Amino acid sequence: MRPNILLLGSGWVPEVDALLDAQFECHRLAQVPPAERAAFLARVGADIRGVFTTGTAGIDAAMAARLPKLEIVAVHGVGVDAVDFTALAPRGIAVTNTPDVLTEDVADLAVALLLAASRRLPQLDRYVRAGGWEAKTPLAPGRSLRGKVAGIVGLGRIGRAVATRLEAFSMRIAYYQRSTAEVSYPRSQSLLELAAASDFLVVCAPGGAATRAMIDGAVLAALGPEGTLVNIARGSLVDEAALVAALQAGRLGAAALDVFADEPRVPAALRESGRVVLTPHVGSFTIETRTAMGRLAVDNLVAHFAGRPLPTPVVL
Ligand code: NAP
Repeated sequence: MRPNILLLGSGWVPEVDALLDAQFECHRLAQVPPAERAAFLARVGADIRGVFTTGTAGIDAAMAARLPKLEIVAVHGVGVDAVDFTALAPRGIAVTNTPDVLTEDVADLAVALLLAASRRLPQLDRYVRAGGWEAKTPLAPGRSLRGKVAGIVGLGRIGRAVATRLEAFSMRIAYYQRSTAEVSYPRSQSLLELAAASDFLVVCAPGGAATRAMIDGAVLAALGPEGTLVNIARGSLVDEAALVAALQAGRLGAAALDVFADEPRVPAALRESGRVVLTPHVGSFTIETRTAMGRLAVDNLVAHFAGRPLPTPVVL
């Protein structure tokens, strides 16, 4: 009998559905009206042996408790902060993710956001569309990157790919994380020290309890009125209220954000600010990368049920 799989969340390419349907009995929670989900889970939960979920949807303790035969959770994404490991680990449930295959596209988006903020692309686009050019409405200049310091918070796979790209813009790179990386870039002793030394702070560390609200009011003030925050990591790393306050008071120059504390809700103060660039959590959202992520997540499920080693297990 084919294993029963529960799919949580959305956002993978259609090919993934076809691959999963070819191997498993698939049950898609997102296709069930919210009011009927409890009954749906009561009906299928006892048979579910695998979960396919996204980095945002993850799996919480309440959901895991409804799946007594659960053996594996395959995350379509690299971030596993929405996975409740304390509920899964005692039951020996494996967790896999999709590292590496998304690194380059997420780094590209970080650089695109940094450039959009420094050269004020959304503002310029709005200016031309609104007739400001023809009306000769005064226009504020952007800021150049050459010689500026890009501080990378979390010099892992994505952080390093961002740093490599920004070096090509003649930026100077510095970083902060807990360990010292084997790189030539200087490592700051603290996040506050990095922020004070940086013109652009690019957040690339994982979400979760250890990093919650680490980009707080003091870090933003250290980054300063001419500084720019770029966040492609997780919204949870930034104290969003402090970010809004810093932008409104002019203590921070600009922000370029792909991720938010309560997605898909974005505070009105950010949506209305003329000094922010906003994208809807699309770091890995290219057809090539989403296809590669989907295939890798499916490969993990297939390997598990075939008794083969997992291609990309999460080892905490
Ligand atoms: P990674 O290779 O594991 O790198 C993470 C880096 O963060 C590590 O070098 C780690 O170094 C550092 N770090 C961990 N905890 C830290 C802490 N408390 N303080 C400072 N630094 C810390 O992960 P990755 O593949 O680069 O992915 C990074 C994150 O990007 C993911 O977790 C995910 O949330 C996010 N992401 C977002 C998108 C998007 O669409 N916007 C797409 C993909 C990934 P130390 O352990 O030495 O501190």
